[in-house]
Amino acid sequence: MLPAIALEGNAHRATPSSGFVPIPMEHVDVVARPKPKVKRVLVRRHRAAAKAERARSTPALRIGFSWPVTKAEITSPFGWRPFVVTPGETGPHPAREFHHGMDIACALNQPVRASKGGRVILSGVNPDYGNVIVIQHAGGWSTLYGHLNKRLVNAGKRVSAGALIGLCGSTGRANGVHLHFEIRHLGSFYNPIYFLP
Ligand SMILES: [Zn+2]
Repeated sequence: MLPAIALEGNAHRATPSSGFVPIPMEHVDVVARPKPKVKRVLVRRHRAAAKAERARSTPALRIGFSWPVTKAEITSPFGWRPFVVTPGETGPHPAREFHHGMDIACALNQPVRASKGGRVILSGVNPDYGNVIVIQHAGGWSTLYGHLNKRLVNAGKRVSAGALIGLCGSTGRANGVHLHFEIRHLGSFYNPIYFLP
């Protein structure tokens, strides 16, 4: 019996007389042809579309903000609104004003929590915001909590998401107890409702 290698060698040594027609290798494209990439591209496109959709509909998942008070009625949304006259305000005023945050209904002294972890960069009193706290988060984001009855953290303190930072109130330019909540990014104001779950 011949060794296996010898048998293999014989097969390749076929001659025209044996009916074997050798095909030049450049015409053999079965192996050389690259795999069609259509499927992979479609999957990639689909994933990109899904990602974009997620970003549009639920940015909270992406950025991680949570409700600073128990989810409740938005008594005044972000954006242009008729000028809000508060007690004691006299004289001429514009017809409308831009509301840089949203007002969330809450009860007096209801806990206000950090919407996301970060560092308190402002804890003070302002004629408009009343008792106000600003927390700086990673990536140029910051959140503001206004009209607090009490501030429970000082500037410089690091807080984790959900940490108690103050109590709801109506200090500053406010017509009643509510939390004025802002989300800012690099100097721009964003509608918080799109960032909350
Ligand atoms: Zn407000």
